[in-house]
Amino acid sequence: MKKAEEVAHGNLATETDRSEQKIEFDWDAVLDCVKRDLYFPPSWLFSIKVAKIEGKMVILEAKTHFQALWVKNHYLQLINDTSRSLYGKESFVVTIDAGEENSVARETKRTRNTDKQERAESHDPQAASFFSSTNTFENFVVGPSNQFAHAASYAIAENPGMAYNPLFIHSGVGLGKTHLLHSIGNHILKKYGDRLNTFCISAEHFTNGVVQNIKTGSMDKFRNLYRFNCDVLLIDDIQFIAGKDSTQEEFFHTFNSLYTAKKQIVITSDKPPSVMKNFEERLKSRFEWGLTADIQPPEVETKIAIIEKKAEEEKIEIPGDVASFIAQNVLSNIRELEGSVNKLFAYSKMFGERITLELAKQLLKNLVKKETPKIINIELIQKEVSTFFDLTVKELKSNQKQKKISEPRQIAMFLSRKYTSSSFPEIGNRFGGKNHSTVVHAVKNVEKKINKDPSVSNAVAAISTTLEKFITS
Ligand code: ADP
Ligand code: MG
Repeated sequence: MKKAEEVAHGNLATETDRSEQKIEFDWDAVLDCVKRDLYFPPSWLFSIKVAKIEGKMVILEAKTHFQALWVKNHYLQLINDTSRSLYGKESFVVTIDAGEENSVARETKRTRNTDKQERAESHDPQAASFFSSTNTFENFVVGPSNQFAHAASYAIAENPGMAYNPLFIHSGVGLGKTHLLHSIGNHILKKYGDRLNTFCISAEHFTNGVVQNIKTGSMDKFRNLYRFNCDVLLIDDIQFIAGKDSTQEEFFHTFNSLYTAKKQIVITSDKPPSVMKNFEERLKSRFEWGLTADIQPPEVETKIAIIEKKAEEEKIEIPGDVASFIAQNVLSNIRELEGSVNKLFAYSKMFGERITLELAKQLLKNLVKKETPKIINIELIQKEVSTFFDLTVKELKSNQKQKKISEPRQIAMFLSRKYTSSSFPEIGNRFGGKNHSTVVHAVKNVEKKINKDPSVSNAVAAISTTLEKFITS
């Protein structure tokens, strides 16, 4: 059995415990395990080597100062945890040499790292924070749909805590929220090095921290870690803590102390604060204290630019007609767009075939199903809109005038006009016998709000994405 497999099966530690022989540090085995725990390990991570082993002290070496700094800030904790799970508690202390320090400085650094590691460990075993080195501003394609969110993110990354606080980014799935969040982290790291401590975590990760620390009675330590050790908090998919009262309570206090200390907070979510369900009002209102930026589904031109960027990164030629074919057929989600492009690239590399429109059409057959669309009808629109706004279809069709019902009704009328060929009077009829002028007014009103009110434009975009799935599935 390979070392990594043995580790995965939990065999190695037992073997080691039983044996009396001197333990040798096996960097490849450690790296193998570390790799499994990272979503996007940067490729250069595998070029890190062991420079020296002094007793129980392992000194790693990176090719560049930047890589060393990155490992130090983001992976060292995980590397040490992995090493301990392999070799037992008292085994090795792993540190990294950036090549710029003399041995005295290294000694100080060792103490600092070990300290930091012990603090993080005891306060929150899940505190390690990672951001993907592949998600940067450099490879984020900017278009009308995302330029505001991009500009706001860039401003934050340049001057954390000085521009807008918090920055709240929201969009439907697969439109670039995580990419922007990680770009902020990468930029801050590049610009400020270890002068700023950036935590980039998912809300799920934060929740796990709360749960574990409640269990072990170490909430004070957990609190201190986030509230006093963090200069920039990047938190992804905050919707995850909906309905989780203790986590919301904890996050509320974390938010307050970071905010008061002028530390930067960036939050992403699948919805704007105003329509988030099962969230305390005091949290929702804080989310709106700074700047709220949405990302809309990309236009065809932006999608083509993203495809071309990917091709450039992969050093693959992609003809213009293929790029437009994919851009026009993948409806809105960039993750799906990437999936299609990757499939095409992988095939062409594997079989050495040139990329042509024919090949694209054949490989991406599922995209072209659009030619035989399933129908989006008014019932479906009413159902999706009601679900999104947590209403019943009956309420949606009623005559009630409160904004929380009338606005979704107008959106549903707007979408009925957009996706069906029904006339204004027909739509009015299907919404509880409304007059045709009511429908005309609704459509105009939503068109106006789409350009001004992010909560409306986001709702329209999110529901459109769901509806369009019916055509493509
Ligand atoms: P979300 O967090 O909104 O669900 P992600 O940030 O994970 O979406 O984006 C999905 C994929 O699309 C990622 O691989 C990301 O790198 C890519 N992507 C999103 N927006 C862009 C963009 N504007 N330019 C280049 N790639 C993008
Ligand atoms: Mg995401």
